[in-house]
Amino acid sequence: MEKEIRTRYAPSPTGRLHLGGARTALFNYLYAKNQKGKFILRIEDTDLARNLKEGSENQLNGLNWLGISPDISYQKEDQYGPYLQSKRLDIYQKYIDILLQKKLAYKCYCTKEELEESAKKQKAKGIKAVKYDRKCFYNPIVKKGINPVIRLYVEENQKLIWNDLVRGKIEIPSSSLGDFVILKSDGMPTYNFANVIDDHLMKITDVFRGEEHISNTGKQLYLYKLFNWEPPRFAHLTVIVNNDNKKLSKRDESVVQFIDSYKKLGYLPEAVFNFLSLLGWSPNTEEEIFSKAKLIEIFDVNRFSKSPSQFNYPKLKWTNNYYIKKLSLSKLKEFLIPFIEKKDLIFLKDNLDEILLLFQAQLREGIEIKNLVKIFTIFPNWKNIQYKFNEKEINLIKDFLIESKKIKFTDLNLENLIKRLGIKFDLKGKNLMHPLRLAFTGKEQGPSLIKTIQIYGKEKAKLILERFLKDEIHYR
Ligand code: GLU
Repeated sequence: MEKEIRTRYAPSPTGRLHLGGARTALFNYLYAKNQKGKFILRIEDTDLARNLKEGSENQLNGLNWLGISPDISYQKEDQYGPYLQSKRLDIYQKYIDILLQKKLAYKCYCTKEELEESAKKQKAKGIKAVKYDRKCFYNPIVKKGINPVIRLYVEENQKLIWNDLVRGKIEIPSSSLGDFVILKSDGMPTYNFANVIDDHLMKITDVFRGEEHISNTGKQLYLYKLFNWEPPRFAHLTVIVNNDNKKLSKRDESVVQFIDSYKKLGYLPEAVFNFLSLLGWSPNTEEEIFSKAKLIEIFDVNRFSKSPSQFNYPKLKWTNNYYIKKLSLSKLKEFLIPFIEKKDLIFLKDNLDEILLLFQAQLREGIEIKNLVKIFTIFPNWKNIQYKFNEKEINLIKDFLIESKKIKFTDLNLENLIKRLGIKFDLKGKNLMHPLRLAFTGKEQGPSLIKTIQIYGKEKAKLILERFLKDEIHYR
């Protein structure tokens, strides 16, 4: 029987689910699903000082919202769990003891000051890659009342080689590693140690993660060798950069950084899923729109991109708009209602369906609906517009007011009225519609004007134009 493919996303719960983390999770998810395997969420919560209380929950909620739900997690364990590292301390200790017993690791009592002193000396000798000087290995003295760290004794003559799915063959000499710490003085394993123990015991077959982990992979491979375990396959994904090709900083506002912010701004999870899938991976086609099922079907680990992936905000909005346009009325309502203010919702309840449908095609972020519906809840504020109406345009509006009182607001009647007035005033196209739109909505642009006027209804349309004509400021 073939080995089951098991991938994992292994965040530290030190922050909210970030774009980069979500992308890592997504690729691991897609591959597991493509291979009919399992996608696992493992929480690496061994950095006690940096853990956030809601960190794990935020990560899991974000994944669930995106539709990247793990098959296995701290909420859904299997026989290889637990999947919270803080619950696995006895497991790590067992392997630490083995290494200590075999004299492959040793206790180190050096203080921060001693380490700094040693580093200084090495630098003075011109050594750039400073390493631990093995003081506690050569002089194994016990300091009472101090908890030691455990260091691995790293042989210097090994080559650590792997075939990275993104970068090809990578080789790290073990001499560059130094005797790195595997257990901290607070009894917690270090990232590199716990990561290897867990990936092995959890039967992880493939590890896709950010390129910042390339240097860690050397240390991890050293441990795999030491235990005589088969390492997983690695892919180190290229960084995500902003429009200026700069690596994302958490404060960069040209990029939506956190998954819960996408939700708050009114992104559909399908859109974010689709967008993220093309951030560092590409299918064998020019297409941009892919359903989840399609992505699962075509996902191919040989198509990770080799160059940094650029976060393109307009493309994200375009993708979101595409998915918003596809929503059925009931889904559209479910999606948009939370963005509309309560008082507006109450006011608009009789026309809500029509109003949402009116704006559906233009929405790039759901939150836009909040202000858009205001054209139906408050009178336009013409003072804010730059445009100066000329006399002809004012007469056009006056006539519209008079004539529209006489007709029923059907599509055809309104169209004909506008056409007639166009002929009368010798105005066409934009020159005809623009003043009318401004008078009715106070806005330069908007959805179908005829539909908008219909939603106002006769009474409100009349009131708006009357008020507009009274407020002469814009055409004097
Ligand atoms: N906890 C690590 C991180 O958040 C996991 C890296 C890995 O996937 O090995 O970066």
